[in-house]
Amino acid sequence: MAELKVLFATSEVAPFIKTGGLADVSGALPAALRAIGVDVRVLVPGYRKVMEQIENASVVATFEHLFGIPHTSLLAATMPNGVPLLVLDCAELYQRDGGPYQNPLGEDWPDNALRFGMLSKIAALLGGKSSPLDWHPDIVNCNDWQTGLASAYLKFEQGVPSVMTIHNLAFQGAFPSGNLSQLGLPASSFSINGLEYYGNLSFLKAGLFYCDHITTVSPTYAEEIQQDALGFGMQGLLSYRQKELTGILNGIDTDEWNPAQDSHLAKKYSKGRMAGKAENKRALQEKMGLEQRADIPLLGVVSRFTYQKGLDLLLEIAPRLTELPVQLVMLGSGDVAMQNAAQTLAMRYPGKIAAYIGFSEALSHLIEAGTDIFVMPSRFEPCGLNQLYSQRYGTPPIVHATGGLADSVRDCTDETLADGSASGFVFSGMSADNLLATIQRAVTLYHQEDAWKQLRKNCMSKDFSWETSAKAYRDVYRKVLGRG
Ligand code: ADP
Repeated sequence: MAELKVLFATSEVAPFIKTGGLADVSGALPAALRAIGVDVRVLVPGYRKVMEQIENASVVATFEHLFGIPHTSLLAATMPNGVPLLVLDCAELYQRDGGPYQNPLGEDWPDNALRFGMLSKIAALLGGKSSPLDWHPDIVNCNDWQTGLASAYLKFEQGVPSVMTIHNLAFQGAFPSGNLSQLGLPASSFSINGLEYYGNLSFLKAGLFYCDHITTVSPTYAEEIQQDALGFGMQGLLSYRQKELTGILNGIDTDEWNPAQDSHLAKKYSKGRMAGKAENKRALQEKMGLEQRADIPLLGVVSRFTYQKGLDLLLEIAPRLTELPVQLVMLGSGDVAMQNAAQTLAMRYPGKIAAYIGFSEALSHLIEAGTDIFVMPSRFEPCGLNQLYSQRYGTPPIVHATGGLADSVRDCTDETLADGSASGFVFSGMSADNLLATIQRAVTLYHQEDAWKQLRKNCMSKDFSWETSAKAYRDVYRKVLGRG
């Protein structure tokens, strides 16, 4: 029997349903934990996309009249990577067109409190004394606000301990207090020492307050969120709990993101066979209508278009970049003004700047492979995955020194290049000038062939596999259970 059993409750999981990094983590971390002997099962809502993709699902539990919903059931299925999956099947709440959190118009679903209250409640029931399953977790790992209430229910109902993992503190799940009774929360919990937050019911605060341990996705972010600038109002609570707060850098799915076996690429390549990388550059230029130029660097972006990601600065300096010269390709969607700005630049600088507005897994892989330099100037970044992918694909990233970016990219200097640790370009001080200067620095090095080859090699030699992180999560679980 496994030493540890963990229910991993999440609102998205790759490859079934993904809006961001949380899905990647939920897809890969449980598999890595299982590989080191932890029996993890993933709980996810049965969104339409999930229901369409799961195979051979069987009903393992039913719930009648929970939160006023006549019938909800729990299905057991398996992830493509072999991880057992529990799917919360409630058509009324989850089977809709649109995203997990928003309708097709980009507006939050009006019943999100109920949708994620239900997810949290089921997680807590499975970690409680009267679980309908014969598999009983030792611990529930909640992720972000969507499952934050599970920590509260588990505390109120004397269930197993919980760990709350913060993937992004900016999203907090705040709802009117009128939701308390429908969600079966005691009125006494609506206080500063509870889940109340500036007059609202905060799912995130519930998680942070009632869980037994907090983790977040990089050591630097664990420090930053205890301070005013990046604490999003939770800094007081987080610094109060700092002894129970651990930063663990995310790993990446090294099978999914492997240039030597990536079917999205025009040509596969590896550290020892780099010729294929140039072919991906040619293919990307062709696909995106960029001039076929091997002699100048091609810069890449794959990102949600939001203020967090600092893309406004890149868009501002883009005209000057074409004079360096460099080419730029951007993939992403989000803020409409930023989308328009990216498309306007692409029209104004045809052959030099290209933009694809939308979500494309295939193009994101080709950009990681086909660009020379990846740009990720996030104002804050809990962990960030694309800078990890880009290093694995031999595409040195340019990053702002924050959160997981600071923890995963080593700035290139004569010294770090010589000792083999340089893996990109890091700048402090969030400004367009600093970003431009750093891009110039990268471009200068790009034209020094040997140094650039060395830098790419350093990037591709780094180990971002999940194993190390999975062991750190296991340490946290053991500590919480007093087995550490
Ligand atoms: P965040 O979770 O804040 O969006 P991360 O860097 O942690 O940022 O993770 C983003 C994930 O979503 C990565 O796997 C990235 O490749 C992917 N991604 C973001 N935007 C797009 C897009 N437009 N098309 C394809 N993949 C995208």
